[in-house]
Amino acid sequence: MFCLDNVCETHNNFKRAEVKLNAMPWFHGKIRREEAECLLQPREDGLFLVRESTNFPGDYTLCVCYKNKVEHYRVIYKDNKLTIDEEEFFENLSQLVEHYQKDADGLCTRLRDSVPKRGGLEFSVDSKAFEKAGWVIPLADLDFGDCREVLGKGEFGDVRLAWYRGQKVAVKILIDSSKAAQSFLAEASLMTSLRHKNLVQLMGVVFDGGTICLVTEYMAKGSLVDYLRSRGRLHVTPRDQINFAIDTCAGMAYLESKHVVHRDLAARNVLISEECVAKVCDFGLAREESFNLEGGKFPIKWTAPEALKYHRFSNKSDMWSFGILLWEIYSFGRVPYPRIPLVDVVKHVEKGYKMEAPDGCPSEIYEIMRQAWDLDPEARPSFAVVLKKLESFLKKFQASANFHTSV
Ligand code: AMP
Repeated sequence: MFCLDNVCETHNNFKRAEVKLNAMPWFHGKIRREEAECLLQPREDGLFLVRESTNFPGDYTLCVCYKNKVEHYRVIYKDNKLTIDEEEFFENLSQLVEHYQKDADGLCTRLRDSVPKRGGLEFSVDSKAFEKAGWVIPLADLDFGDCREVLGKGEFGDVRLAWYRGQKVAVKILIDSSKAAQSFLAEASLMTSLRHKNLVQLMGVVFDGGTICLVTEYMAKGSLVDYLRSRGRLHVTPRDQINFAIDTCAGMAYLESKHVVHRDLAARNVLISEECVAKVCDFGLAREESFNLEGGKFPIKWTAPEALKYHRFSNKSDMWSFGILLWEIYSFGRVPYPRIPLVDVVKHVEKGYKMEAPDGCPSEIYEIMRQAWDLDPEARPSFAVVLKKLESFLKKFQASANFHTSV
């Protein structure tokens, strides 16, 4: 879990605390009206749950027991806020539930006990939590200059370059903040609790009307996969390769020590700084260990078989992805499983097929890939162990390089 100690830090002369997510045990996701009614037993007044609306995708339904019946209230999005009666508006479901737990305020009854969802929980987060913790940056403090250079396109919107207090920063902009806002803020809240030289650092969050921006340190050399492809064998040295592997592994070992699972580790989600340090980014899918991702999009070639099949994500499934990432580093950014059509990859992998070592890949590194691709997650090594192996490989490599230059 990532409810870490309340880490306070001094940055730009103000103290900032970790932003915590609110658990929503009463949120059951996409279940039908009939299923909700089955779950709401015994029919005690005020027993409730919230589900995603099946008739109106994107909206929610609050289901409440009253006088032995279940009332279904439609929760709609309006002007980036949630409302039932178009009188009271809320930033997220947690705030809405909290309000109606205090007072019926027009509902048939006040909300009392909830039916908790079994399995993976959902979380919510609100902008005030960021403000209180000192993570909010005023939009006026960001200077986009004239060119408004687009660094890339992400799941939520453009990533742009800007200046903030004399420093270049990357600004992820979410334009339509209504639906995606919760996942975007969840990504940001997770980032407030993590600090490591091999993780892309969050600097703050901007709230401006309907627009939300996530401000992170600027990574001048772009994504690792683009770096490897554009420079190739001629410019990326064996020393660079081992450094990228160690940097990424150190960032992941830190996440492992915090019990945070990344779930989308790949060379496209590692960025390179001006000084050529590799840092893991894109915590969009990083969640508490028990999370299960229903209906998500999986990057099939990077995802461990048990995660694809049973949604069992763990630090060990991240280790599988790390093995693929190592293969990307040593093949200079090739797409994994070349020549195997995407639809056949899972079939092959489940039978125990493993990619061959890329040309020129040291045997010690290939051995790590093979261990990472063990079908049994428990048999895969931890990031802490792989980090030690990579570091001792680097020492050996340096010693032999010194030997070659001194003879
Ligand atoms: P993401 O939304 O994190 O997947 O980012 C999409 C793309 O934007 C990445 O592949 C990078 O090319 C670029 N990008 C994201 N974050 C940064 C950053 N901090 N510094 C430089 N470029 C970035």
